[in-house]
Amino acid sequence: MIASTPSTATPAATPVALAPITDLSLTSLRQVVTELGHPEYRGDQIAAWVYRSPVGSFDEMSNLPKSLRQALADRFRFGALALEAEFVSSDGETRKAALRLVDGDLIESVLMRYPTRDDGTGAERSTVCVSTQVGCPVKCAFCATGLMGFTRNLGTGEIMDQALHFLRWSRAVPPTVRNVVFMGMGEPLINYDATMGAVALLVDAVGLGVHRLTVSTAGWLPGMSRLIEDKYAVRLAVSLHSPDDALRTTLVPLNKRFPLATLLEACWEYQARTGRRVTFEYTLLDGVNDTPALARDLVALVRRHDVHINLIPMNPVAYLPFGASRPEAVEEFHRIVREAGVICTVRREMGRDIRAACGQLRTELQGREPVRASTVTA
Ligand code: SAH
Ligand code: SF4
Repeated sequence: MIASTPSTATPAATPVALAPITDLSLTSLRQVVTELGHPEYRGDQIAAWVYRSPVGSFDEMSNLPKSLRQALADRFRFGALALEAEFVSSDGETRKAALRLVDGDLIESVLMRYPTRDDGTGAERSTVCVSTQVGCPVKCAFCATGLMGFTRNLGTGEIMDQALHFLRWSRAVPPTVRNVVFMGMGEPLINYDATMGAVALLVDAVGLGVHRLTVSTAGWLPGMSRLIEDKYAVRLAVSLHSPDDALRTTLVPLNKRFPLATLLEACWEYQARTGRRVTFEYTLLDGVNDTPALARDLVALVRRHDVHINLIPMNPVAYLPFGASRPEAVEEFHRIVREAGVICTVRREMGRDIRAACGQLRTELQGREPVRASTVTA
């Protein structure tokens, strides 16, 4: 047996990375500048540079005194992320960025550009999908991110900088990003404060409408309770995947702790408080949750409420025993829900050729074997 002797040597100081400026709320930014001896309005000038201009450093903020620019550079990093790789789908409508965090891990963000419809209706629009965690502790059975295990929460700046990456790019190549969905890697409501910190900046500093921001949850009730009370009434998307508790627990293990009845009650309360239609995401898995009987049960659960069901064709994930539903099964499921008078759409698949589904690109880039780690369901 090898005994370990305590070391008497002083460990070498490891350089601590500066926090990104995008970690700060607008209020904190104003506070920081006043603490540095400058008037509060300088905080708003900095926010305008960071959130509404293409500059990439404090030094380029030409209307700030040089001393303030230097003080900011001494205390903050301008960007939280380094672009590792970017992939563009063959149709050019989807771009996926693999972004490196200061501590070396990779996260993914996706830009989806929707053209006007063939009949000329609908505006061109761009939507960014951001990650909120490295990996995810929820471990849904069909999800590539869940397969990675959970490393850590992202900070507000790390979430914001994903949106800014594509926001800046899209200002030069319109349509400019107007929508942000929190549907990338991770469970946003488990990382509530950082997620809602990013929501606040997107609304107050970038100027996006709060109705253009969508938070997607697998049903983390403590977060939903907070959201019900929050002043930012974002759109809520809930990943349902089954109208049956036993089946849902096998797909979304969190369901054991927060079963359907409790989850739906929170959804109806959110709807009543905000007046917003709730979206239910339903990933169709071949032979698992795509039967006509389940479509009818789903209708029975939601029909008395103002909801939108978004059917998602499954993106097959290596190592996982699920396949995409057959097109006829998708069509039949869609028909049953629609004919019952419930708003129902089938999500257009985007960027399959660049692994645009959540978690898939990172898994590939890291070349890692998937891991099953911590869980929040125990
Ligand atoms: N954690 C949140 C948000 C991120 S996942 C949530 O679960 O809602 C975003 C959406 O992608 C969820 O609806 C999720 O169920 C779905 N999803 C995950 N893996 C998928 C896959 N392999 N194919 C299709 N949809 C998937
Ligand atoms: Fe986490 Fe959402 Fe993936 Fe489930 S689907 S493991 S909650 S990221």
